[in-house]
Amino acid sequence: MAFEVDETGLRIAVFQWLREREAWNNGIFSGRELNEGITVAGRRITLKGQTGIWFPAGWAMPVSITTSNRGLYKLDEIGDDGFFTYAYRGNDPGHRDNVGLRNALRTRTPLVYFKEVEGARYQAIWPVIVLDDMPDRLCVRAAIDPAYGELKAGARFGDIDASPLDVRRYAWGQTRHRLHQNAFREMVVSAYDQRCAICRLNHPELLDAAHIIPDSDERGTPVIPNGLSLCKIHHAAYDKNILGIDPDYRVHIREDILLERDGPMLKHGLQELDGSSLIVPKRVAERPDRERLKVRFGEFRSA
Ligand SMILES: [Zn+2]
Repeated sequence: MAFEVDETGLRIAVFQWLREREAWNNGIFSGRELNEGITVAGRRITLKGQTGIWFPAGWAMPVSITTSNRGLYKLDEIGDDGFFTYAYRGNDPGHRDNVGLRNALRTRTPLVYFKEVEGARYQAIWPVIVLDDMPDRLCVRAAIDPAYGELKAGARFGDIDASPLDVRRYAWGQTRHRLHQNAFREMVVSAYDQRCAICRLNHPELLDAAHIIPDSDERGTPVIPNGLSLCKIHHAAYDKNILGIDPDYRVHIREDILLERDGPMLKHGLQELDGSSLIVPKRVAERPDRERLKVRFGEFRSA
């Protein structure tokens, strides 16, 4: 069937596009760019649409499945065995979308899983393989399997050997870690309206979510009040105790740094910020936790 070869090639092109973009967006895509999709060989492919199980125009099988439950604590629906369940559309196992999932299972066709991490921003997880159909529970079971990410010319997905369980588990462990980090970053940076809390820089691609108490510490939970939206320079300066933030949201630059003489970055980017006020989120509940700042500021003082 000609369309199948065609669709397989397009699917591989989608994976390729995701991989290329991933290097600079951490695998996070806006709903808008996914809805707009990509153009391959003159054909536009929408990667996501209004429904969770998405078929680009003319495709026999879905390209993606999407979950829109945000928040860090909704990310753990995937078990340690690397499987996750994905609900059917509605209650009818015979609905075209659900049949599409079953066809993907039968032909071992990999899909992309878009998981919302924050306000219409999605983590792309792929290649995802549907492994079980559970019509009595109105869902399928699926897993990430790196083996399906590449395909040699002329081959079919059905010819690929599934990865062993330990490889799939490892892939899931990596993905979960990434999801947590990205969800924390998205939540924090958006609470600060995509600005650095110290210098106001408004370039999301240069912003990180810094932890006030590091995540290696048990108090260092990934919640907005333990985060600060900081540009790359101020994040590094905060982590290295070149810069401190007191519980009253005031910025302090370490004394030896204040005495240095150097170029404009030192002068304007650090020294002149000594004594300035932190820019905090409008919502009180999202502002940095003063107790945590106090603990961390103590470390800065003794540095
Ligand atoms: Zn900054």
